[in-house]
Amino acid sequence: MEGMDLKDFMSFSADQSPSPVSTDELRSKLEESIRRILRARFPNDSVKAALDPSTRAGKLTIACPVCGDSKHNSREKRRTIHLDTMTTKCWNGGCPQSWMRMETFLEKFGELGNFTGSELTTIKRKSSEMTEGGRTQTAQTSSVSQVVGLGKYAIPRAEIMAELRLSEVDASYDARAYLKGRKQLSKDNRHFAWKQSTGDLHMFNLSQDREGVIGIQIRRANPKRGQRFFTMNYERIWKDLFGVENLDEDIKARVNRASLIYNILGVSYSDEIWVFESTIDSHHVRNSVATWGTGTRVYLPNGVYAFDNSAMDKAGRLAAVEMLGRGHRCFLWKRFTDEHPHLSDCKDFNDIFKRQEFTRDELRKFTGNDPLDSFWL
Ligand SMILES: [Zn+2]
Repeated sequence: MEGMDLKDFMSFSADQSPSPVSTDELRSKLEESIRRILRARFPNDSVKAALDPSTRAGKLTIACPVCGDSKHNSREKRRTIHLDTMTTKCWNGGCPQSWMRMETFLEKFGELGNFTGSELTTIKRKSSEMTEGGRTQTAQTSSVSQVVGLGKYAIPRAEIMAELRLSEVDASYDARAYLKGRKQLSKDNRHFAWKQSTGDLHMFNLSQDREGVIGIQIRRANPKRGQRFFTMNYERIWKDLFGVENLDEDIKARVNRASLIYNILGVSYSDEIWVFESTIDSHHVRNSVATWGTGTRVYLPNGVYAFDNSAMDKAGRLAAVEMLGRGHRCFLWKRFTDEHPHLSDCKDFNDIFKRQEFTRDELRKFTGNDPLDSFWL
């Protein structure tokens, strides 16, 4: 007998799910439903009643049938329908039901009856991945596999840009000037965004495809109350930007922690991972992350820890002593500045790179993983 090949196995597995539903068919049925809702809700306003052609795959923009949307301009359509996550959100301040799951939205306007049982199952499964249903997919144990796959919970970067009214750094002269001075401009600057009104630099902890965001750190140009950096974890983004508070506890626990480790979804685990304190430092060395929260400790078996200059930064020294004590590899500042005395006044890695470039292999010569190496801190 011929063995079962992978394709057979895949279709066999697919049979186990409730019922296969064609995504395209479901999407066009949903579009029909939404058109009906809009025509019934706005019978005398053909602009509001129209379903705008989507600018991006999986996303529709409509006049909100819940709050009625703008009273002055029918073209200002403020409800977004996300067909990929089967959720919907109205951006109109004061909308009584801003964020809704697709099934709640359909039910509200009497459209549920137009969908088959398996179509509704598909809709509900997708919308609950964001909120409470993720448990079935999250039963993983090791720390690496806990991180791998978190990208599916990332929030679309475009939504965050719109909500916070941010600009791409490439479109802002001020942003480019700021980043250029720190040797931070690259071909792809999606990990940054700029708030033109304040000059605040926004740093995004991106998903692997760089389309989604799990955490945000803001560097304030003009910090009030002495706080230069402001960090938003995953839960806080949902709550403060989108008014969503009913995230699944399991997802919250897993994503919140990863959301404060910059670039954690972008690194390869088969290579050494360099761990820096700041995003800007981390951009100088390939396959690296940055710990945003001052209290965040990341223990990676293949991590190389590069804290701020331990000769001038007590917190950096204590952190390095602790990591050496646990047998982790650390960057040894004194060993480095002995050989490069002209760089001994650098307080962090960005200071070094502003004056002189080093490859990762060159920097690695100044690392050690023996507790006695704390002599070199
Ligand atoms: Zn609304």
